[in-house]
Amino acid sequence: MIRQQGGEIYSGLRVRAPFFIRADGRGFGKLLKDADKPYDLDFARTMVKAARYLMEEVGPSPRLAYLFSDEASLLYLDEPFGGRLEKLISVIPSVLSGRISLSLGRAVGLDGRAILVCPDQVAAYLKEAQDEAWRNHIFSYGFYSRIKEGMDRRSAMESLRGKSEGQIHEMLFCQGINLAHCPAWQRRGVMVYRSSGDVFEEWELPLFGTAEGQGLVKSIIEDFPR
Ligand SMILES: [Mg+2]
Repeated sequence: MIRQQGGEIYSGLRVRAPFFIRADGRGFGKLLKDADKPYDLDFARTMVKAARYLMEEVGPSPRLAYLFSDEASLLYLDEPFGGRLEKLISVIPSVLSGRISLSLGRAVGLDGRAILVCPDQVAAYLKEAQDEAWRNHIFSYGFYSRIKEGMDRRSAMESLRGKSEGQIHEMLFCQGINLAHCPAWQRRGVMVYRSSGDVFEEWELPLFGTAEGQGLVKSIIEDFPR
């Protein structure tokens, strides 16, 4: 009876809404070595498709999914599985990884964690994630511009160490790459969300730190419950 007694470590932790479940790809950098660098539109579409699959087909459906790189932040305003943490952080990443694996034609894994927020912290969480997307954007372009110059990965990494975002930006600008002109989805991420029962994709997101961005988040959160 090891399955029922003693041997099973079950924390019984439950979370209260609202919360984010963040799923993050494991070792995707290596797995996607044939993808376009620094950004691959097909892979971004794969992430969006996985979020939609979770929302529209299998559940539990979040109100919104914010996506950048190999990471998905899913906002729940209700408590699927009675808020049981172990269910949430195992089922949700596994649905995403299953769908992503089917798209890529190879098996991938994502980890999962829960982030508890107050209702008025949702936009702030998204702003932090979007800031990370922007830092990631600058660093990725910086890194792959070095690789294109013929550097190996280690030297490329080394050459960026200690450089500020502004310095990398400047370095790229001198090479004729203006990051401000990159597609919005690369700089600001993509959002998939529910509104009036339908699912929408936003590939031209505003900054979540602006009134426009906060207004968008507010309208999604306050949408009449399905
Ligand atoms: Mg990641």
